[in-house]
Amino acid sequence: MIIILQPDSQPDGPEMRAVMDYLGNKPWISPNVHQVTGTQQVLTEIYLVGDTTQLDKAEVEALPGVERVVRVSREYAVLGRHSDDSRAYGFTYNGVRFDQDSLHVFAGLCAVDTREHVEQMMQALQQNGQKCTRMGAFKPRTNPYSFQGLGKECLPWVFELAGKYDIKVIAMEITRDSQIGEIQEALEQTGHPTGVMLQIGTRNTQNFELLKEAGRQQELPVLIKRGFGITLEESLNATEYLASEGNRNVIFCLRGMKTNMGDPHRNMVDFSHVPVVKRMTLMPVCIDPSHSVGTRQHSPEGLLDVFHATAQGVIAGANMVLVDFHPEPTTALVDGPQALLLEELSYFLEDVQIARDAYLRRRKNFAEFYQS
Ligand code: PEP
Ligand code: MN
Repeated sequence: MIIILQPDSQPDGPEMRAVMDYLGNKPWISPNVHQVTGTQQVLTEIYLVGDTTQLDKAEVEALPGVERVVRVSREYAVLGRHSDDSRAYGFTYNGVRFDQDSLHVFAGLCAVDTREHVEQMMQALQQNGQKCTRMGAFKPRTNPYSFQGLGKECLPWVFELAGKYDIKVIAMEITRDSQIGEIQEALEQTGHPTGVMLQIGTRNTQNFELLKEAGRQQELPVLIKRGFGITLEESLNATEYLASEGNRNVIFCLRGMKTNMGDPHRNMVDFSHVPVVKRMTLMPVCIDPSHSVGTRQHSPEGLLDVFHATAQGVIAGANMVLVDFHPEPTTALVDGPQALLLEELSYFLEDVQIARDAYLRRRKNFAEFYQS
């Protein structure tokens, strides 16, 4: 059960005290308080854990300051979409809005290598009107002896370059909880020229210690990838675990599943699950066509498989695209074979727009069908 207080109620205000006093008489219930900052107002939500079947919904709703009570119909209490659920969802970070209706492309380097490459990438993004990118400084690898990223030393100059080209959000993977502090510190030291969305990679979807730390801080949003060898439910459970620590600014990313049934793609593309995740949860859904497809192969008409997979995700309603580019893929230290070229960026963005327009038309068409 979720108790939603009237907008702008204070966590130490009389409304909260009234609810807590009421719950104090029910020791089998433990409340968990979340503050949700929307575009217009701050909402306080109290998540009740324990046997809530014994609670009278109408009685709780009659408490002073209670706006609404939602009975949780599935296990993802915080992130799940429940039957009578009209909770605010989505978030704005560093001026960029993320929700189940928005769409942002995060094109960038899989791994930061040289200052020149980072600058060329950011410049190309700015020339194409982009505000977001991906830049890996900490890289978990299939082979642990491979290059693991430049680490915290590159953070200040990567952030400064992002500021120079007006990039607002960088998706950056973390592999250890100490890296969260390193990123926050580097942002602080450089005067916040940009923002960072923490990325939890597919190899860490069930690294619960890392999830806990990413969920405990609320400054940086989190992009969590679906685990490549576990069920969707297990990945969503892990994501819920993160959010239940307090950080609800979470985006879920599909990136293909590890099975040789997907060959010759690197992973089995799972973008038909975009609408599934949107139905089950309130999270914006990201697709990563680069790590799904993993090659620069193309179909006979010339379109790259990465372009096709992206279009498939976007036409199904994806809210974010995480995609590898590199100015010189042959010299890239990580994932060069799947990187798109800077010269391809404008075509890629146009292709995304074509698929997005088609999605919006499909949506409108069906809305008319329902109204008629
Ligand atoms: C990445 O995005 O750089 C990455 C390592 O992806 P994944 O965790 O999906 O393999
Ligand atoms: Mn990669």
